Amino acid sequence: MVIIMKPEASAQNIKGVIEVIQNAGLTAKVTEGVQQQIVAVIGDKSKVSSVPFDAMPGVDHSVAISKSYKLASRESHPMDSVVDVDGIEIGGGNFVVMAGPCAVESREQLMEAAEIAKKGGAQFLRGGAYKPRTSPYSFQGLEEEGLKYLAEAKEKTGLRIVTEVTQVESVEIVAKYSDLMQVGARNMQNFSLLKEVGRANKPVMLKRGLAATLDEWLNAAEYILSEGNDKVILCERGIRSYETYTRNTLDLAAVAAVKHLSHLPIIVDPSHGTGKWRLVKPMALAAVAAGADGIIMEMHPNPAKALSDGAQSLTPEHYYDLMRDVNKLAKFMRDEDIKSIDLEG
Ligand code: PEP
Ligand code: MN
Repeated sequence: MVIIMKPEASAQNIKGVIEVIQNAGLTAKVTEGVQQQIVAVIGDKSKVSSVPFDAMPGVDHSVAISKSYKLASRESHPMDSVVDVDGIEIGGGNFVVMAGPCAVESREQLMEAAEIAKKGGAQFLRGGAYKPRTSPYSFQGLEEEGLKYLAEAKEKTGLRIVTEVTQVESVEIVAKYSDLMQVGARNMQNFSLLKEVGRANKPVMLKRGLAATLDEWLNAAEYILSEGNDKVILCERGIRSYETYTRNTLDLAAVAAVKHLSHLPIIVDPSHGTGKWRLVKPMALAAVAAGADGIIMEMHPNPAKALSDGAQSLTPEHYYDLMRDVNKLAKFMRDEDIKSIDLEG
């Protein structure tokens, strides 16, 4: 953190700032600018995080330099984290695919979707049993019955289960039936939920909030990590922008940015990121190329009959087609022999 003094700040003003820093057990280093003096805080700046430097006499403004999230930052953990989800590794160069319907609608629908997901090569089956819907009149999910179908689908296919948890009271039951608990976009800053999943012994996939900055998102991950759960995976699912043709604006630059800022694996959701099935395959391929650790997408045995998000759900045929190309590109991205070809020569 640095504190930039006003050009007219007195020696007494600067002394006041230095004293506050030193009283917290930190070191203050004063630099002479052309017009202003700058005081740098050296040491653990959390010790002065509640000091309102900007309100002190002679201070123009203060600037935080180090990040407010620590455990999620790349500085605290230079190597990529690899999260083991019931034997499937996410991160560290493995590419995973999660596919399935938006919502678990019936036993029959889910078993059919699971067989298709498996046949196409996904490692995870997705499906919401608790559905956070924009309208209270829309289908809200089968709740525990849906979780039981998910567990049954795992038994039949071996696919790992990813499903959303929407409230503190359901963490225990969702953890019991699933392998990876999803915290949805609408709950990204539900801090009591973040703390509760942080205390659970189960991997968590944290989706980016509808209008969250990277800083807010990584701080939300910090809530989970700081409770002791280090199995955290991020998921970029598009953010709200002025564009209305697409449901959200899929921020693929966030994938590369998160890789720089954090060690946590990141996967991409091109279904909620676009809202249109036609755009899912191109954005899935772009996610692979951007360096994502995996994708999660909606696929339905019959999208026209889906109780939620049919417009963005792939048919089985479109899903198989996507998987063929995603696998080719993911292999290309991993293949050191191909990447080291000297294109100039
Ligand atoms: C979902 O994955 O079903 C979902 C509701 O996504 P999001 O939280 O990203 O809107
Ligand atoms: Mn959905």
